[in-house]
Amino acid sequence: MCFSRDQLAAYLKEWGEKPFRAQQMFQWMYQVGCDEFGPMSNISKSLQARLNEHCDIRAPEIVSDHCSQDGTRKWLLRLEDGNCIETVYIPELRRTTLCVSSQVGCSLNCRFCYTAQQGFNRNLGVHEIIGQLWVAQRLIVDRKISNVVFMGMGEPLLNYDNVVTAIRIMLDDFSYGLSRRRVTLSTAGIIPGMLRLKDDCPVSLALSLHATTDAVRSDIVPLNKKYPIAQLLEACKSYVEGAPRKRVTFEYVMLDQVNDSPEDAQRLIHIMKNVPAKLNLIPFNPFPGTSYQTSSAERVQQFKEIIGNAGYTVTVRKTRGDDIVAACGQLAGQVKDRTKRSLQIKTALQGTSG
Ligand code: SAH
Repeated sequence: MCFSRDQLAAYLKEWGEKPFRAQQMFQWMYQVGCDEFGPMSNISKSLQARLNEHCDIRAPEIVSDHCSQDGTRKWLLRLEDGNCIETVYIPELRRTTLCVSSQVGCSLNCRFCYTAQQGFNRNLGVHEIIGQLWVAQRLIVDRKISNVVFMGMGEPLLNYDNVVTAIRIMLDDFSYGLSRRRVTLSTAGIIPGMLRLKDDCPVSLALSLHATTDAVRSDIVPLNKKYPIAQLLEACKSYVEGAPRKRVTFEYVMLDQVNDSPEDAQRLIHIMKNVPAKLNLIPFNPFPGTSYQTSSAERVQQFKEIIGNAGYTVTVRKTRGDDIVAACGQLAGQVKDRTKRSLQIKTALQGTSG
């Protein structure tokens, strides 16, 4: 078990400890980066002994550490069961972003995504999600990680409880104290999860839209057959009421001749008239065996101008870390026992209906 601070306080209460112990432990673990109870000098020796007997502080093990020419860093992390996940650190002038994974592999099978090719093994535990930030922040000694995006491997809303607990830890002032606006959850469009998140733990939301018609979207994001575009847009509208940012981000991977026509741009304008959103165009990052091609720079530019000229915010995501295969959609990890995918798709989707 990996606890939020409230949960840790409740656990320690059973040992007769006051809630501030959880605050102190959080500071040692997350702000100092302790992986033992011994150095926690304001915790009594007797409590330390008890903690040693019943608890431990564990993080994923670093298998490899690749540095890109542009400063992006990618870690391959091994979990206790031998599965591996990837985490990417992206430094910029005014912010530093960590892109974290939420599952080992992914069950959604989006056709343009490399993670999908790896199949699905399991959800990450809370400690494996927050552990990515812990490992990264211990290694990045000169800067504080300011932003976290759930844009690594997996669909975060299909691992709802663990993702939300990990986010609560990230936001906690006695831990990393990240701002809600600076934690972004990216989803392929699990509507019930979006609506729950709005009430439980509102953070910035990105929707992987990627198409303007249900026919195209259902082809490239099979989940669209269950949650089609019109319903997704309603869910986005509802999400932004009361959310930390008044707009969602639409992510839109530019696939040559698939979703990048001027007509698509016009349809997007129509969509953006109705939903408060900004648009982030992502040039498709190819991977071995894919049949898709990256839209040309001219086509991306033309698409961007059509939307921009209509008065909407549109950016083109800079490709970072592609020399170390760390760009969007290129994270693969090492997934054991990939055969679980079809079973997981069924159970995952059943679990979210309602
Ligand atoms: N499952 C979540 C988060 C993981 S993917 C989601 O679907 O949003 C993070 C982003 O990278 C998504 O927008 C995803 O569609 C995009 N992506 C996936 N494969 C890509 C590729 N090959 N090139 C560019 N972007 C890709």
